[in-house]
Amino acid sequence: MSVPAGQKIKTVAENTTSGYISPNQYDIDILHYDLSIDLYPDQRLIKGNATLTGKITNENITSLDLNFYDNLKITGATINGKAVNYERSATRITFPVNEVPKDTFILNIIYEGTPKLVGLSSFVFGNINHQSVVYSLNEPQYASTWFPCDDRPDDKALLDIRITNDSSEVSVSNGKLIDISNQGSRRTYHWKTIYPISTYLICLYSSDYVEFDDRYISQDKSDTMAIKYFVFPKQLNDAKIDFSDHVDMLNFFARTFGEYPFIKEKYGVAEFLWQLGAEEHQTITGVGSIFIGGRKFFDDIYSHELSHQWFGDAVGLTSWKEIWLNEGFASYCEALYAEHVGGSGALRSKMMGKFHKQFLGKIYDPEDLFSQTVYDKGAWILHMLRWEIGDTAFFKSMRNYYETYKYKNATIDDFKKICELVSGKNLDYFFKQWIFNGTGIINEQYSWNVDTEDSDFVLHLDLNQIQTGFEDYKFPLDLEVKFEDNSSQFLKFEVDKREQVFNFKFKRKPVAVIFDPHSWILGTFVAEKKN
Ligand SMILES: [Zn+2]
Repeated sequence: MSVPAGQKIKTVAENTTSGYISPNQYDIDILHYDLSIDLYPDQRLIKGNATLTGKITNENITSLDLNFYDNLKITGATINGKAVNYERSATRITFPVNEVPKDTFILNIIYEGTPKLVGLSSFVFGNINHQSVVYSLNEPQYASTWFPCDDRPDDKALLDIRITNDSSEVSVSNGKLIDISNQGSRRTYHWKTIYPISTYLICLYSSDYVEFDDRYISQDKSDTMAIKYFVFPKQLNDAKIDFSDHVDMLNFFARTFGEYPFIKEKYGVAEFLWQLGAEEHQTITGVGSIFIGGRKFFDDIYSHELSHQWFGDAVGLTSWKEIWLNEGFASYCEALYAEHVGGSGALRSKMMGKFHKQFLGKIYDPEDLFSQTVYDKGAWILHMLRWEIGDTAFFKSMRNYYETYKYKNATIDDFKKICELVSGKNLDYFFKQWIFNGTGIINEQYSWNVDTEDSDFVLHLDLNQIQTGFEDYKFPLDLEVKFEDNSSQFLKFEVDKREQVFNFKFKRKPVAVIFDPHSWILGTFVAEKKN
């Protein structure tokens, strides 16, 4: 998800402790969702038919639980073809133990109603210029407002979705378009996903879209993949200008991290009316219509969402507490793409745009999933990791992480282990101070003076970490020393204590010091006031 600066949304993921996911949901594994969703925008009504194929993974399971909002009226429910009893609560449907099959099950639920509008957007019957726009945005836990599901990010499944609407409307979803069929004035689009997908990434868009295509050729030249754009007719020309960098972005991310994960399906962008940003639905990003302007102003949003196909979609979360793996990564990918286009100056300027003197709370299990802390500080943490272990180890770690966990789910610890293996460095302190324990940023106070010693000049540097919160940050510091003769020298050394004194010997007289001249550190360096 991308939320441009200045927008305020606060989302707290519910988890097992708040009760949205029941313990029994960890004892099932959904393998496939077959969804038929009939849309009646005038009545704000959906008629759904959901068939879930799944497995029981714990024979002592006490009930089969799924997430499903209880305002949707069920007109039929079967397990393995047999009508079953169930109980419902606000966001859950429960099949009692006597209805639970031993191993695999095919569960069918037929339902209808108006999906509740909760969270950021969940399921919306909107309109623009008197034209209907139906769309969904499930992240983090709102898929169950419109279909029954095991709404955990780590229970990935395959998907067939058939969306039916008036034949004037184009209906779009994840994966590949298999078939379009007509029944009188109604039209059905069948989309199929052959790569595992998390429920929060399952989506639906339906409007009078106009469509245009681009083409991406895989890095080994063996596959050609369509890039499909679905936009409102009035914005067609602007969209053609704005979206034109997607091919270059795809090539850049595929070269940097490994091949685009959904190469047999598509990448695409569909316009919707969530005007706070964009959402990385697997193979078909949703972009708010105000983020298409025909001036190429929104590349950061587009590169952010595209990079989520690698980090977030292909490599999925195990828990919402680890949202940094999605949003910190995609935010840093904005900067990496800017670096690819504009060089190191562009990287630095993007990172300074994400620099703030204050960040609230921790990265791990953040108070707000979509906060500046997760996005901007999250991006800085990857930037500092790159400085810490070097470009070669950093990009190799990113590639290995993607290759190892694509189509699966990973944890921060999985990522850390790969970085340690590739770099040969123990990174306990790094992840502790930036992810698991630390809050805020580094604040260093410094003073310095120069002595002579024989024919040498000695620079005495006093560093004093004055941040509250995390005790001692450990980090490699880049220091530029300028000399009397206008020359300069760069020093890289490890800072690892709250108060530290360093001495450096030179043949020339130092006249100035510049801390972190290339902006690798999320910290401030302020000269100590002398009395
Ligand atoms: Zn995002």
